[in-house]
Amino acid sequence: MAYTYDDQNIFAKILRGEIPNDTVYEDEFALAFRDIQPQAPQHVLVIPKGPYVNYDHFAAEASDAEVVGFTRAIGKVCAAMGVEPGAGGMGYRMIANSGEAGVQEVQHLHVHIASGRVLGRMLKRFD
Ligand code: 5GP
Repeated sequence: MAYTYDDQNIFAKILRGEIPNDTVYEDEFALAFRDIQPQAPQHVLVIPKGPYVNYDHFAAEASDAEVVGFTRAIGKVCAAMGVEPGAGGMGYRMIANSGEAGVQEVQHLHVHIASGRVLGRMLKRFD
């Protein structure tokens, strides 16, 4: 696997504080902020602080502490959004688009968390 991380991508600039964001949660491993063009009533992006292009890059090269920290941060973001079904929230959808087939626009790993309404089925039938 060979990934080259471009540190001029928009989320790298957000992490460096060069572009403002509407922060929902932040810790040592992750930053979560509202999507600038929300596709649901609640639409938050969670990104790791390390330089990873997508999820398979992250899974292969991030340290155990980063993987655990990022995963725990996603749970904390769900709590901050008030969407955890186990705590009375209405639930959510997590999406991590990668590469061409996934139609990934920004080349820094990000997990979308969408909620605020029933979102319908995940994918349309393709046949
Ligand atoms: P992708 O298609 O790569 O999975 O999604 C990228 C997401 O980033 C899109 O939903 C888009 O609206 C969001 N986005 C792009 N630029 C910015 C930005 O400058 N700020 C924020 N908050 N979101 C952005």
